Amino acid sequence: MTLIANHPPTAELQALDAAHHMHPFTHNDELAEKGARVITRARGVTLTDSDGNEYLDAMAGLWCVNIGYGRDEIAEVAARQMRELPYYNTFFQTSHVPGIALAAKLAELAPGDLNHVFFAGSGSEANDTNIRLVRTYWAQKGQPEKNIIISRKNAYHGSSMGSASLGGMTPMHEQGGLPIPDVHHIDQPHWWDEGGEMSREEFGLERARQLEKAIQELGPDRVAAFIGEPVQGAGGVVIPPDSYWPEIQRICDEYGILLIADEVICGFGRTGKWFGSQTYGIRPHIMTLAKGLSSGYAPIGASVVCEEVAAVIDACEFNHGYTYSGHPVTAAVALENLRILEEENIVDRVAEHAAPYLGEKWAGLADHPLVGEARTIGMMGTIALTPDASARAKFAGNAGDVGLICRENCFQNGLVMRHVGDRMIISPPLVITDAEIDTLVERAWTALDLTHAKLK
Ligand code: PLP
Repeated sequence: MTLIANHPPTAELQALDAAHHMHPFTHNDELAEKGARVITRARGVTLTDSDGNEYLDAMAGLWCVNIGYGRDEIAEVAARQMRELPYYNTFFQTSHVPGIALAAKLAELAPGDLNHVFFAGSGSEANDTNIRLVRTYWAQKGQPEKNIIISRKNAYHGSSMGSASLGGMTPMHEQGGLPIPDVHHIDQPHWWDEGGEMSREEFGLERARQLEKAIQELGPDRVAAFIGEPVQGAGGVVIPPDSYWPEIQRICDEYGILLIADEVICGFGRTGKWFGSQTYGIRPHIMTLAKGLSSGYAPIGASVVCEEVAAVIDACEFNHGYTYSGHPVTAAVALENLRILEEENIVDRVAEHAAPYLGEKWAGLADHPLVGEARTIGMMGTIALTPDASARAKFAGNAGDVGLICRENCFQNGLVMRHVGDRMIISPPLVITDAEIDTLVERAWTALDLTHAKLK
């Protein structure tokens, strides 16, 4: 039986929501007309709404619920920590046990000598920290003018002024006067949309070499760092050509600029290894973490910093921090989440079984007449909707119109799948079973059929 918590009727909730609740990335007037879908409960990979409808959540919330919903162990740890020490800060020479333990655990899990952790409340805050870290690093080394950060168009690094500036989302830059100064964007390695006649690998090299060109044009003495998601998530699960990251790494090494891997989505098993940097052979100086760090059970972000950068920062007072940096309850929750990921071998299971199984099933969607490419990396998937796969053609009308229809058809069929323009993407909980993957792909196929029928 589906349990529905005691709550007012859906229409009443929707009216209150429309009257008082401003939603992120939402046209709120349009939402008010339709009424929000109110989610009341979740277990495993399944969401339940206020009317008792169930949905397979192929997005793990916002790419974050890696261990799946409804793990009581986490609730118990949080309650215990709230009773013991609900809050204390880590400013001004104080610390606490969960913060210490989580920093040490992340130092153990992170690759290479990434072994110093600065906590934040979200991925956005962690990326803001990174801007200040790399600029402070170069200033401390006597090069304050080395302050430009290079990022990519269509990247997503968060929603605060700094992190949204690092991101390359034009609609975000158009609101609020972004980007902030000294952030430079190069093109993304999105072969399907932008590769033209080039092979994937030629294109990957060409796009990576834009970094070299930008460094030369801006001046190597001006460029502080490059930031990139190993796989761009919100940009549409843009799986880079294999040639891309090795060339980016070569360029960062050659010009001595810091490399920041934004692992907010790719971290904690999403790509089949603990970190996307390991999947792509990236050796970052700083990693941004959030989402899967707590599987979304509590808000947390972190910058994990290599020894060299940490040593320079530690030699000054870093005038930066958040009230909730290393919050004891979120730190305890994150530790318990990491325990579950490790003890249940969830990352190994992704690599050995779940990702290949998802990859095989998902690839079958390429046979649908509306689908151009169907690809996965680890537990992330993407399909391009197209009127003509061989030409990699776009639909007439606004980009995203068809994707939106498809997304609505997914909802009608008990599936949460996100659209980015006319691309459908997934990032399910890592614990999804084979039977649930089968259901996911069947429902996606039905949604594609309905979308196709509507276009005729
Ligand atoms: N970086 C990446 C790669 C993300 O995908 C996101 C969120 O989707 C962020 C940063 C921002 O994280 P948050 O929403 O926790 O601020």
